[in-house]
Amino acid sequence: MVGEIRDEETAKMAVRASITGHKVYSTIHTKSPREVFLRLEEMGVEPYLIRASLGGIISQRLIRIICNECKRKIGEVNIGSNIVPIFQKTGCKACNRTGFVGRTLISAVHYLDKELKESTKNIYEDENILSNSEMVVVLKKLLISESIDYYDYLQFIEGEDLNEGELQRTINYCRKPS
Ligand SMILES: [Zn+2]
Repeated sequence: MVGEIRDEETAKMAVRASITGHKVYSTIHTKSPREVFLRLEEMGVEPYLIRASLGGIISQRLIRIICNECKRKIGEVNIGSNIVPIFQKTGCKACNRTGFVGRTLISAVHYLDKELKESTKNIYEDENILSNSEMVVVLKKLLISESIDYYDYLQFIEGEDLNEGELQRTINYCRKPS
């Protein structure tokens, strides 16, 4: 177990342990699984060594669950073919005036098989390699099930580096009076 990899020395030690047959678990704080690859490279690990040592990446983020007792409907948005009611937090006795009742996990698992490892050779040209799209699918499911605040949803999308156009369309929709 390596608590966190954030410098060259730790990165190289973890990679060395991995390629000599040890199972290494660690964390790297990045915005996407793609950046794990790039960050290791920035820390001086040769790409072929990253490919040899990296078995998988699990992305995790937490998001707040909105309180069902007091959430306020603020409009509707299109998610794929669904028209989804969207909500904003308010605050009541049940949620201690916070508007939320705990958090839930948004997670995606990338197993780096031979094919995916091979594709990382084009990681600079192709932004879809090790992207956050799976995380966004989970996020959209939470919005469809009316479990999260719409502004938390937008903030999450913004943090996921999605294309500007898609985000702008969603925000404009949100601003339209319902
Ligand atoms: Zn409440």
